[in-house]
Amino acid sequence: MQISRRALLALGGAAVATSVAGLPAFAQDKGTVGIAMPTKSSSRWIADGNAMVEQFKAAGYATDLQYAEDDIPNQLAQIENMITKGVKVLVIAAIDGTTLSNALDNAAASGIKVIAYDRLIRESGSVDYYATFDNFKVGVQQANSLVAGLKERFADTKPWNIELFGGSPDDNNAFFFYDGAMSVLQPMIDAGDIVVPSGQMGMDVVGTLRWDGAVAQSRMDNLLSANYGDKVLHGALSPYDGLSIGILSSVKGVGYGSGDLKMPIVTGQDCEVPSIKSIIAGEQYSSIFKDTRQLAAVTVKMVDAILSGGTPEINDEKTYDNGVKVVPSYLLESQPVDKSNYEAVLVGSGYYTADQLK
Ligand code: BGC
Repeated sequence: MQISRRALLALGGAAVATSVAGLPAFAQDKGTVGIAMPTKSSSRWIADGNAMVEQFKAAGYATDLQYAEDDIPNQLAQIENMITKGVKVLVIAAIDGTTLSNALDNAAASGIKVIAYDRLIRESGSVDYYATFDNFKVGVQQANSLVAGLKERFADTKPWNIELFGGSPDDNNAFFFYDGAMSVLQPMIDAGDIVVPSGQMGMDVVGTLRWDGAVAQSRMDNLLSANYGDKVLHGALSPYDGLSIGILSSVKGVGYGSGDLKMPIVTGQDCEVPSIKSIIAGEQYSSIFKDTRQLAAVTVKMVDAILSGGTPEINDEKTYDNGVKVVPSYLLESQPVDKSNYEAVLVGSGYYTADQLK
């Protein structure tokens, strides 16, 4: 069957229209980058994915962006699929940092470079670079903010009663956040200025699998009923906004934030919209801003350098030992955010509009 020139032109027009509509049409010149993100249940990862798609596109790459809804086999299958499809580079924010070794060895064998995105991929020699924030410093900032809040809200009280929450034990970052925070809090505990009435300390007891807010909420319920019959809780170290919201629900449930019972100081991370609204309402005390646009920009620059035969810019070659190698890293700076500066930092930088925070 012969297809007329006019029909071909019409078909061509339809294909162009499809790609203009943003559907995955033609791979762009520089090839496809596979992006594996952990979950859409936290808006920070949606922001990361969107920023990367936009910036990779501007740099001439096509993208294959996948979310695994915190399901480890699902993420593994997505990555294996990307390798089969022949992506040029893999950018991975792992759910469990230790479960990807075989797939990544296959990627390396096919000449596909691997960038660990925000979370270190552990126990694999096939990780080429790591783009992240200074995670120890994030923990230091969280603890400093907790202490600043305690001084501000409970100036006449000492010692301060606090409880500690950690992130997911399968996420390397969780240990960095916790260790950073404890570098500030442990000396104050030793000096008797801060007490942890439950005695629960150490990532093995305070970790929160999959960063699940509901788990943090029920742990806080238990901590309160077992240890606070005759005590007041003054603060909680929370490493992530999703946990902070759970902790706040728990304390509000037993009357904190009303009558004489002041809201405890609760920290956070990621500046997710519900938490910024909570900060504005005087409930959550603080969060940590990690500008996902900057992390995407660092990652795009890394990929571009790798694929053009150059060497990506890194600024840390000693901190992130993944059990097999020290992964060359680029660390960005995070910024503490509370009621006093959220507007300047988040709205001023265009990260959110003022309307989104209403
Ligand atoms: C990220 C944090 C985030 C947490 C939960 C960590 O790996 O570094 O920004 O709060 O995961 O998603």
